[in-house]
Amino acid sequence: MVKQRTLKSLTRAVGVGLHSGQKVELTLRPAPPDTGIVFRRIDLPVPVDIPVNVAAVCDTRMASTISVGGDPGAPKVQTIEHLLSACAGLGLDNVYIDITADEVPILDGSAASFVFLLQSAGIELQNAAKKFVRVLKPVEVREGSGPALKWARLEPFHGYTLTFEIDFNHPAVDSTGQHVVFDFASGQYKRDIARARTFGFTKDVELMRSRGLSLGGSMDNAIVVDDYRVLNTEGLRYDDEFVKHKILDAIGDLYVVGHPLLAAYTAFKSGHALNNKLLHALLADASAWEITTFESAEQAPQGFAALAPAW
Ligand SMILES: [Zn+2]
Repeated sequence: MVKQRTLKSLTRAVGVGLHSGQKVELTLRPAPPDTGIVFRRIDLPVPVDIPVNVAAVCDTRMASTISVGGDPGAPKVQTIEHLLSACAGLGLDNVYIDITADEVPILDGSAASFVFLLQSAGIELQNAAKKFVRVLKPVEVREGSGPALKWARLEPFHGYTLTFEIDFNHPAVDSTGQHVVFDFASGQYKRDIARARTFGFTKDVELMRSRGLSLGGSMDNAIVVDDYRVLNTEGLRYDDEFVKHKILDAIGDLYVVGHPLLAAYTAFKSGHALNNKLLHALLADASAWEITTFESAEQAPQGFAALAPAW
């Protein structure tokens, strides 16, 4: 059977939160089968577990934030999407994530540091069938109209592909690739997606800082763009790094469903909010999805059984 995966050993990282600017320590630990991904706020007088699921997402304005049951007043963890993207990219099902503040560290602004951490802890196969969420019929969400139109869609597919298009109407972004297709069957998440960094526009930074956001942001953890060009002296990591980061985010945002999707995801200018709305729309229609497992690697979509080789 295609098996669930967890970590072989524990691993730690220290960094700062992108929005809070707060120093934070993460400890990633193995977890038993069917645990899912569970954050544990160990800085609170009594530690609080925050399991990752669609209902736990309580804020999607700048990043994906979760709390217990999605209660906005409950202890929370912000900016979970890059770490979740790395977990999805490596096919990890069960992980405990101890955290000492309310925001995941931004590290280098991509998922590459998390991939490195998770790989260095090692990945272990568990004696339980890996569960997938198979999409059975098309589900779509839309917002706005005309130039403000955004949409995201899931369609049935025996595998997992993501197609993303951006349109920022900005010279520095428009000169790069704006359309990317990523197929998990390629097995190249780490090479093709994980290194894409988050990005910000200088015109937005002052506004965000005045609202207490992006306090930890710098050119060490983000691509910074003024009205005309990329300001980072080292330039871009991929020719189409902006749209690749949007796919990286979408992989993380969609992984809050708790299992890998078997679907074709297509999106135009989507973001954390619309990605979450898409999952709500999917789960609201019980005939649109099912949980499935694979008795043998051959039954799984091409390349899927080897999605995350056990290092
Ligand atoms: Zn991001």
